[in-house]
Amino acid sequence: MSSALSLRFVQSATRTRDLPDLGPEVAFVGRSNVGKSSLINAMARQRQLARVSNTPGRTQLINVFSHPNGGAVVDLPGYGFAKVPGRIRRDWPEMIEGYLLEREQLVMVFVLVDGEIGPTPLDQQMLDWLRYHDVPHTVVATKSDKVKSSKRPRRKRDLAEGCMLETGDVVWVSASKGDGIDRLRDLVVSHLAG
Ligand code: GDP
Repeated sequence: MSSALSLRFVQSATRTRDLPDLGPEVAFVGRSNVGKSSLINAMARQRQLARVSNTPGRTQLINVFSHPNGGAVVDLPGYGFAKVPGRIRRDWPEMIEGYLLEREQLVMVFVLVDGEIGPTPLDQQMLDWLRYHDVPHTVVATKSDKVKSSKRPRRKRDLAEGCMLETGDVVWVSASKGDGIDRLRDLVVSHLAG
C-alpha cells in the first residue's frame, strides 16, 4: 500500500512576508468549494488537516504545512465565493497574486478545477494570469467520481480544452474514492524534493 503524504500544519498567514522558509513549496489554489481541503486531507490521509468548509469562503488565510523531508504545501484561500464580505473579497486577489508572484520558494501551483463543472470563467482567468506571469502550474480536476464513467473520456477532453491544455496534462482525482490521489501525491513529493 502506498504511503500518505506526511504533512504537519505549521502556520496561517495573511501576507507572504510572514510565511516561514521551509524550502521548496507547492501551492494549491481553486475556487471555493472545488474540493481543495478534501484533496489535501485525502493526500495526507488525515480528516482534519485542512478544514473542509461547511461555509465556503470562510478559510481566507494562507495555510502552510511542512513535509518531514523538507519543503512545504501551501493551501491558498479559495477564490470566487460571492457571499464573503466585500472587504475580504477585495483583499483576496492581492493576497493570492502577491504570494504567486513574490514567493521565491514556490516551485509549482496546482490549480484545482471542478471535474463535474469544468473550468469557470474565474478558473480560466486564473490560468491566463499564471501563463501571462510564467508561473509554473498544473491543473488538477477534482471530484472525478461525480462524472459518470461513460462520460469521462469526453469530459476529460472538454475540460482540458477549456483550460487550453492537452487531455493528458490534467491530473484527475477523487478525494472521496481515492482515484488519482497517489499519483498527485507522488507529483507533489517530486517537486518538494527539488
Ligand atoms: P474547498 O472549499 O475547496 O476546500 O472544498 P471542500 O474540500 O470543503 O469540499 C467542498 C464540497 O465538495 C464538500 O461538500 C465535499 O464533501 C465535496 N467534495 C470534495 N471532494 C469531493 C470528491 O472527490 N467527490 C465528491 N463527490 N465530493 C467531493
